[in-house]
Amino acid sequence: MFIRPDNKLTQRAVDTSSMRSHNSRLLLELLWRAGELSRADLARESGLSRSTVSAIVADLLDAGIVSESHVAPSQGGRPPIVLRIEEDRFCIVGVELGASHITALRIDLRGRVRAEASREHPVEHDPAGSMALLFTLIDQVLVGSQGSALVGVGLAVPCPIDPRQPDRLSTRILPRWGEVRPGTELFERYGASVLVDNDANLGAVAERWWGAGQAAADFSYVKVATGVGSGHIFGGEVYRGAYGIAGEIGHTAIDPAGPPCRCGRQGCLEAMIGSASMVRRAREQLAAGVESALRAASPLTLGAILGAARAGDTLALRIVGEAGQYLGIAVANLVNLLNPSLVVLGGPLTEAGALILEPMQRELHERALWTSIETTDVRVSALGHRAIALGAGTAVLHAALQDPSLFPVPGPALRGPLLASASSSNVHP
Ligand SMILES: [Zn+2]
Repeated sequence: MFIRPDNKLTQRAVDTSSMRSHNSRLLLELLWRAGELSRADLARESGLSRSTVSAIVADLLDAGIVSESHVAPSQGGRPPIVLRIEEDRFCIVGVELGASHITALRIDLRGRVRAEASREHPVEHDPAGSMALLFTLIDQVLVGSQGSALVGVGLAVPCPIDPRQPDRLSTRILPRWGEVRPGTELFERYGASVLVDNDANLGAVAERWWGAGQAAADFSYVKVATGVGSGHIFGGEVYRGAYGIAGEIGHTAIDPAGPPCRCGRQGCLEAMIGSASMVRRAREQLAAGVESALRAASPLTLGAILGAARAGDTLALRIVGEAGQYLGIAVANLVNLLNPSLVVLGGPLTEAGALILEPMQRELHERALWTSIETTDVRVSALGHRAIALGAGTAVLHAALQDPSLFPVPGPALRGPLLASASSSNVHP
């Protein structure tokens, strides 16, 4: 899923083919999880020989990915040198290209958000303006990152991604984006690897690493925003289906006679509970003469509807309650089909809290098989509005830990301290 045209990448920090890629991945992951380990610890925990560990660590030191941190107290014999990943020397950018907004984050190798920039924008209708804004927001979050090298850019997009053509957005969902290659444009501008994936898949990744899904090997993430989608983690990995379309819960039918959906069909979940469809329903009701505080809302947005519902407005409460009911039907179908241990709900609609969750749970209990209900926990995401962009960055982190060659060669500014720290500790076990 990475965009990194080989003819444009000349500098690689680590040659995986000559560097025992499997073992280097194993050691890097052990080190990332533990934070600090000596060569002896790595040999013990990986089951690799001391000489293999030393050779791989030497490569990782040369590549500037790992450093010798300090000498630990001796436990009999030579005091061990503690190794750690050079976390401050690298950064990652995660971007959410939403249907109507763009969010960019700079994160460190622990998933901590170091900078954030976000702007509303009609992404669906304005590819050129969206790409320009995307660059502006990324440039903003990179301010202050001098001294850390960009490992890659993760880009979450609001449509399915076919792994055979990872840089093409679905024209069925985003008709104006047919000629745009966002991954290639990002690669050309930042010279770093770019990973493009569906937004809900990346929301699931964020939940798996940092959120509600950390303890769950099999769970589903459902995002309800302008678009509605789901990401599924099976056996700890994202399930994509044969051609990357798995998880398009937003385009499963709820009401065959329902309103038209932007996919061209009728009565899809997204056409019933997506932000735009809720606003449309409110407009229709107001036009039909229904009394509501929403009449004064300008502009009439999902936020206005949620606010009016919280204040007890009858029309807003009905619209939100119906959305909860439709969401419950979809989640019941999902748990009957996949039996996840957990369903995490994300996106702005979940900000309605109990107003959406209670009707959702009622419908879920009505429709899901009792065995599914007993074994499936439903929770609202604690990662908030950053979840998707965080997931995009996290997918890059995951890929880099799997393939150390993705770590960029440190620039000249980094060479100095790196060489100094390496040469100051010339003791090798
Ligand atoms: Zn649809």
